[in-house]
Amino acid sequence: MDGRVMGRMKRELLEREDNALRVERLADLLAGRVGVACSCNRCGHRAEAPVTLLLAQLGPDFPVPEIGTRMRCGSCGSKDVATRPAPVAEQRLSQAAVG
Ligand SMILES: [Zn+2]
Repeated sequence: MDGRVMGRMKRELLEREDNALRVERLADLLAGRVGVACSCNRCGHRAEAPVTLLLAQLGPDFPVPEIGTRMRCGSCGSKDVATRPAPVAEQRLSQAAVG
């Protein structure tokens, strides 16, 4: 199992080098245990959307940068919302390493 995971990581690394503009999809986020950070372009309100909820609503192949087109700001109601992957798992890992 470890070997397979390593091979997959290596392949993804190569794919990233070949195609720097590769779009993250919801299924990728689930595999990497990251959330989706949303920020309103109008009022600056920020929130984090659970990937599991987005997956249920949009499906695993939905591109992360386009999630914002389906969202609405909970503060001002604007539909001008930017989304990007939020590496919550990495933050937890680094905290664990320090502690
Ligand atoms: Zn807003």
